[in-house]
Amino acid sequence: MADKDQAHLEARVAEKGINAMSSNEFLSETEALEERANWPAMMKGLRGRCPSCGETALFTKGLKVQDQCSVCDEEFHHHRADDLPAYLNIFVVGHVVVALIMIALKWDIVSMWTGMFITIAIAILVSVLMMRPLKGMVVGAQWAMRMHGFGGNED
Ligand SMILES: [Zn+2]
Repeated sequence: MADKDQAHLEARVAEKGINAMSSNEFLSETEALEERANWPAMMKGLRGRCPSCGETALFTKGLKVQDQCSVCDEEFHHHRADDLPAYLNIFVVGHVVVALIMIALKWDIVSMWTGMFITIAIAILVSVLMMRPLKGMVVGAQWAMRMHGFGGNED
């Protein structure tokens, strides 16, 4: 009976030992991943450059992010920018445009109709111009924070 308990205990210790070793290996593996600075990566993405090296263009065509950087081989197909860039765009444009039209109308700078057309034109122009930088910034942030497969593990 005691031998059986001893064997069971040894088996559990061995099992725990293996578990502890594998979790330590995992920890050292994740600690070995170098820290990525958030702001520089986001600024490179904002400029439409590779968040890692900044040497190549992040986008291939329109808002399509390239799968891999041709200079540093960093993979970008992991990104999940989804609708965050569009949300940020609406947030920024909405506040800028709403503020501008309210100032313009309050101070009688423009008539209601002129103000409306200027507002629509500014809203379209600014939102189109901001789409790429905002998406690049989001991809840069995800890369720096090792989100969605950027950390080496699949999402
Ligand atoms: Zn690169």
